[in-house]
Amino acid sequence: DLNVQLQYAITRYGPGDRLMVVRDVTRVHNLEQMRKDFVANVSHELRTPLTVVVGYLETLLDMDDELNPRWKRPLQQMQQQASRMQALLQDLLLLARLETSDNPSEEELVDVRPLLEHIRKDAEALSGERGHHITLKIEGNTRLHGIEGELRSAFSNLAFNAVKYTPDQGEVTLHWWSDDKGQHLSVIDNGVGIAPQHINRLTERFYRVDTSRASTTGGTGLGLAIVKHVLLRHQGRLQITSVPERGSTFSCHFPPNRAA
Ligand code: ADP
Repeated sequence: DLNVQLQYAITRYGPGDRLMVVRDVTRVHNLEQMRKDFVANVSHELRTPLTVVVGYLETLLDMDDELNPRWKRPLQQMQQQASRMQALLQDLLLLARLETSDNPSEEELVDVRPLLEHIRKDAEALSGERGHHITLKIEGNTRLHGIEGELRSAFSNLAFNAVKYTPDQGEVTLHWWSDDKGQHLSVIDNGVGIAPQHINRLTERFYRVDTSRASTTGGTGLGLAIVKHVLLRHQGRLQITSVPERGSTFSCHFPPNRAA
C-alpha cells in the first residue's frame, strides 16, 4: 500500500538544459487529508444532537400558552443560534464533499434557466421587506454538463450575498450569457462593495471583510469557499470586481467544452 505523493517542477536554464526538482509531499498530503476527514466527521457527528436540540426548542416554543413569558425570548434566541449552527454544519459538510470527491459520473445535463429563475425568487424572498429589485437576464445557450446541486449552491450563494450586502431597495442583476469563450454568470449588485485588499482573500474559509456585521447578516463565512470549489470542479473560474460604496460583480466563467 504505497501511497507516495510527489511534486515536481521543471525549469529550463539554458538551451537544451533542464533542471527537475522533485519533492516528497506525502506527509503534507496525509496531514491535509486528516484535516479534511476530521472536519467532515465532526460535522457529521454534531448534526444528530443538534437536530434533537432544535426539535425540542420548536416543541417548547409551540406550547405558547403554557410557556412562562419570560422564557420566550431566550428560547427564540437559542433556536436562532441553533439554526445558524445547522447551516454552518451543512456548509462544512458540503465543502468537505467538494474537496474530497471527484466523481464525474454524477454529472448531468443541466439547464440553468429554471435554476436561475428559482434562485431569483428565493433571493426575492430573502430580501422580503427590504425590497431589492432583482432582475434576471438570460442570453444564449443555458445548457451545460455539470452537477446541478452544486451549481445551485454556488449560484444561490452569490445571489444571496448580493442581497445581504446591498442596502434596502438596492439593485441586483443575475446575468447569464454564452459566447465563444464559454458560458458566464455575472451577479451584479450596487451594494457596499469590497476594498481591493480583501478581494483575493474572500474565497478563504471564514474570511470576512467586516466581522462585526457577520453576526447580523447571518452567513456562515463559507459561501465563497463553496463557490470557488464548485467552479474548480467544473473547470470554471470566479472573477470578482468591486468598488467600495458602489457595488460588486461576481462572475462565474465556464469553458466552452462544458456547454451542451
Ligand atoms: P458570509 O457568510 O460572511 O457571507 P461568504 O464566504 O459568502 O461568507 O463571503 C465572505 C465575505 O465576502 C463576506 O463576509 C463579505 O464581507 C464579502 N462579500 C461577499 N459577497 C459580497 C457582496 N456581494 N458585496 C460585498 N461584500 C461581499
